[in-house]
Amino acid sequence: MRTPFISANWKMNKTVDETVLFMKEFIPLVKDTKGVDIVIAPPFTALQTAFSLLKDTNISLSAQNVFYEEKGAYTGEISPSMLTEIGCSYVIIGHSERRQYFNETDEIVNKKIKIAQKYGLAIIMCIGESLAEREAGKTMDILKKQLINGLKHISAENIIIAYEPIWAIGTGKTATTEQAQEAHNFIRGELRSLYGKTAEEIRILYGGSVTPDNIKALMSCQDVDGALVGGASLKADNFAKIVNFKK
Ligand code: PEP
Repeated sequence: MRTPFISANWKMNKTVDETVLFMKEFIPLVKDTKGVDIVIAPPFTALQTAFSLLKDTNISLSAQNVFYEEKGAYTGEISPSMLTEIGCSYVIIGHSERRQYFNETDEIVNKKIKIAQKYGLAIIMCIGESLAEREAGKTMDILKKQLINGLKHISAENIIIAYEPIWAIGTGKTATTEQAQEAHNFIRGELRSLYGKTAEEIRILYGGSVTPDNIKALMSCQDVDGALVGGASLKADNFAKIVNFKK
């Protein structure tokens, strides 16, 4: 039985003050929600404030990135121990925006996953194809390559996969339930090849223009175990509706 998992990815949005306002509105809206793992990934600067507000709630904290070394001369980077120290339980790794704008390769993603796992962080590993790749019929090849290279020598412990077709991120174009299920089913198959029966326990999230209107249909797909939500997670009432998709 895989517990549904819904995570907000705020990207480069919200100051500390805006984080406080959001949490004050959001926490009461989900306080009675049961049977869903709820996670929020604010920017680095708001993590500590977010953690102080989320203590003793049913909401966990995620970072949006981590560096692959433990410490040293890496100006501007953040280490895994810096994240665990301020209350992060999760980290998003390999988001397509990082792959696209910051040249993150599968090899870098692999190094980041390795160190995050060493420090006990749970990992939301993002994979997904571009529109050109989908139109060229290469979707499954891309997903396979990202999974195999990203998870090389990595155990299944604390791994969550987020399937995020790049053409659906921030575009308002959601994958159809058929497209999502097809990709998730394929990913589950690849995870079986890597991890055997443990693959049945790994949560596979869908990400790409998830809203309160489409979450229920997406969650009805057999292999969709949750969602990674960008734009629609920025408003507390909207994100609460997504988290409360069962109601
Ligand atoms: C994301 O960036 O992870 C995402 C899914 O964004 P959006 O929901 O805005 O498409």
